[in-house]
Amino acid sequence: MSDYTPPLRDIKFVLDTTCDIDEIISYPSFAHVDKDVAFGALDEAARFFSEVVAPTNRDGDLIGSVRNDDGSVSAPDSFKKAYAQYVAAGWGAVKSPIEFGGHGFPGSVGLAILEMLTSANMAFSLCPMLTSSAILALSAHGSDEQKAIYLEKLISGEWTGTMVLSEPEAGSDVGALRTKAEPKGDGTWAITGTKIFITWGEHDMAENIVHLVLARTPGAPPGTKGISLFIVPKLIPDSAGAPADRNSLHCVSIEHKLGIHGSPTCVMAFEDATGWMIGEENAGMHYMFTMMNDARIHVGLEGIGLAERSYQQALDYANTRRQGRAVGAAKTESSLIVQHPDVRRMLMTMRAFIEGARALLFANTAAIDRSHHAPDVAARAAGEERAALLTPVSKAFATDLGVELTSIGLQVHGGMGFVEETGSAQHFRDARITPIYEGTNGIQAMDLVMRKLPLREGGVVADFLAEIGATIETTAAAGLPEISDSLAVAYADLELATDHLARLDDANDALAAATPYCRLFGLVACGHYLGRQAVVAARSADDPWMQDKVAIATFYSTQLLPQTSGLAPAVTAGAQQLFAVDLAAAGV
Ligand SMILES: Cc1cc2nc3c(=O)[nH]c(=O)nc-3n(C[C@H](O)[C@H](O)[C@H](O)COP(=O)(O)OP(=O)(O)OC[C@H]3O[C@@H](n4cnc5c(N)ncnc54)[C@H](O)[C@@H]3O)c2cc1C
Repeated sequence: MSDYTPPLRDIKFVLDTTCDIDEIISYPSFAHVDKDVAFGALDEAARFFSEVVAPTNRDGDLIGSVRNDDGSVSAPDSFKKAYAQYVAAGWGAVKSPIEFGGHGFPGSVGLAILEMLTSANMAFSLCPMLTSSAILALSAHGSDEQKAIYLEKLISGEWTGTMVLSEPEAGSDVGALRTKAEPKGDGTWAITGTKIFITWGEHDMAENIVHLVLARTPGAPPGTKGISLFIVPKLIPDSAGAPADRNSLHCVSIEHKLGIHGSPTCVMAFEDATGWMIGEENAGMHYMFTMMNDARIHVGLEGIGLAERSYQQALDYANTRRQGRAVGAAKTESSLIVQHPDVRRMLMTMRAFIEGARALLFANTAAIDRSHHAPDVAARAAGEERAALLTPVSKAFATDLGVELTSIGLQVHGGMGFVEETGSAQHFRDARITPIYEGTNGIQAMDLVMRKLPLREGGVVADFLAEIGATIETTAAAGLPEISDSLAVAYADLELATDHLARLDDANDALAAATPYCRLFGLVACGHYLGRQAVVAARSADDPWMQDKVAIATFYSTQLLPQTSGLAPAVTAGAQQLFAVDLAAAGV
């Protein structure tokens, strides 16, 4: 019996109201996609992930992936069985290119499926998630020959993909990496170096692993301008494309971690391993960004997927655990804790943030769909700009929430939340990595402030602010004054903070503002999307589910969104106070 029920109606509602999936599916690129078929696939995915994958989540935590003495890594048996069924059912193919065996669905539909996979088992989901990012990078930048050899196998899931950047001295600063690539004279390259923290870098769920590795060629310029991207397969495909000779790379060790025990985090040694360059020399960072931008939204989704599962468990517990007597309850019996306002506050906070952040992530992905497939050139450009603006916010805001909300879910359980057997603690532990990897949230916030706000001389963020302004009007016109009034106040905070940043000429002041600004931006973006949803939901006065949507958006707008005013001073304060104390000497 699964303790996870995919929130199908919520997901479809977001696809309809926030993504405008009807418009996306009407693009010529999706002429082969029928909405009923796409939504039918979501129903089937919900069944598969709740019944087949969700029950493996606990095994991942308790058994974990284990490195054997010969350097191989074994995933839990239940993972292997579930992965075989995942491949047989073709779930990895949903949004991949048709010419290589994919179904070519919009990315927004792919995201819906990935949310359910992530909630079902986050550690397991990382393997297909990284594979899908590798597919994207190879489809966009690989040669025809490389596509022919690798794409079909990756799309089917028979082979899996990894993303190999990090080294001991190169974490946030990827440009510091030292792994070498020497030409072998036959068109291939010899890759040598040690990479750390490589997710699913070695395992026994698939017959081959395709590593996409960043390395430096001889004489390459320093920093990120001198990095190239290579395909380095674990088993080198023979002329028929079948996995053959073992490449000279191996897993030296795997990390012992706070969470995601099912996902092996590998130290990988490459010793003259044979690699094939993707695209142009020294353009590797650009290609890797194709992969990382995709992965950043997926990591944001991990925050929400874990929060959703934590919420469902907390809700269930709150409706079974009795403690104390709620106001007005009979004197003879104790009340369900869900009757206490403070517990309801915790549950409402979880639900409202989950729904808001889900909308943000899906809006981000719909913008990417538009950037690739809208028939109109201007709409494609607008989609690209919007996606660029929202991606760091999606990653940082949703993963910070993942940690906060899974902590609240644990809190609803009281002492039993701290005890592992309820499973609530696992979500909290699993969520903690998400603000760290795929670019820490500090790095995301700096990306937003230093690179995204200046896009088109501030025009990109101005367009988004104008859209929020329109939501203030539509919510007011729809008779939702609590939402429109609260959104107007928060909008003013965001506008002021944005204007302030645009006028700054001291980079340290801007960098000091980055994290509170990113939070402020995320809060307002969610208020905007929830407001738009409420306008649609308010039209269905007879549908209690829709009325709940209005109630959630109202709670969010009036009780959570006002946090923006507490953040604004930290945005405008500058860096001076952060350097007022000698932190180098403090405590010594
Ligand atoms: C479980 C796990 C899985 C991972 N999977 C992969 C993977 O599959 N592939 C891969 O290549 N990597 C992977 N990573 C690596 C991950 O992406 C890095 O850990 C992350 O980018 C942070 O780098 P770091 O650990 O070196 O921290 P550091 O870069 O040392 O950062 C330490 C702190 O300093 C801050 N900081 C650093 N630089 C700056 C700056 N310029 N300005 C302001 N603040 C700064 C950071 O925000 C952070 O708070 C994984 C890591 C873990 C733990």
